[in-house]
Amino acid sequence: MTKKEKVLEIKNYLDRTYGDAPCTLDYDDPFQLMVATILAAQCTDARVNLVTPALFKKYPTVQSFAEARILDVEELIRSTGFFRNKAKNIVACANALIERHNGEVPDTMEELIALPGVGRKIANLMLGDVFGKPCIVVDTHCKRITNLLGLTKNTDPTKIEMDLKKIIPPEYGALFCHQIVEHGRAICIARRPKCSECGLNTVCDFYKKGMKKLGKNKA
Ligand code: SF4
Repeated sequence: MTKKEKVLEIKNYLDRTYGDAPCTLDYDDPFQLMVATILAAQCTDARVNLVTPALFKKYPTVQSFAEARILDVEELIRSTGFFRNKAKNIVACANALIERHNGEVPDTMEELIALPGVGRKIANLMLGDVFGKPCIVVDTHCKRITNLLGLTKNTDPTKIEMDLKKIIPPEYGALFCHQIVEHGRAICIARRPKCSECGLNTVCDFYKKGMKKLGKNKA
């Protein structure tokens, strides 16, 4: 089976199981998604969603974030961890958007990753979820599960992104990444994957290797 054929099998299962899996961060506009994604580093989406209502109420626009006192932002986002760095980046990002893009979130990878606090993961999420462009969001679930499945052997997120771009249909990239997050939360849980319940075990390299070893031990 080629990797592209394997991706089709995986897609069929993920579509059946998770359907149109949405982004689990709450937001009303592109900049809010960018802020929520910055806050989501080393933090759960559920925790971010507890913090953002008060944050977006106090700072409803890019301009208001640009004028915010970093200390005030820190207080509102403290529970998301790494709050000093995140507050600094959010305020700097808002200022950069006003200076370079008239307060709008740009729609190219180059412009997005030039913004403070924005790496390829956030940029890809913005490209896919906001602008409907091809993207691969390599987060912790994507990195782990695509390795287990045997879709990549790389551990560097940019290399994984490039590997996946070769085999995942461009129009499916954004949804694939959201579905994989759902799968990582429900079945392929880090350190205790429920392989026997997983509909991908027939195409999963990790599972097949485990089965082979068991077969040898029995022999
Ligand atoms: S078979 Fe196991 S390791 Fe493979 S994707 Fe499913 S849960 Fe994850």
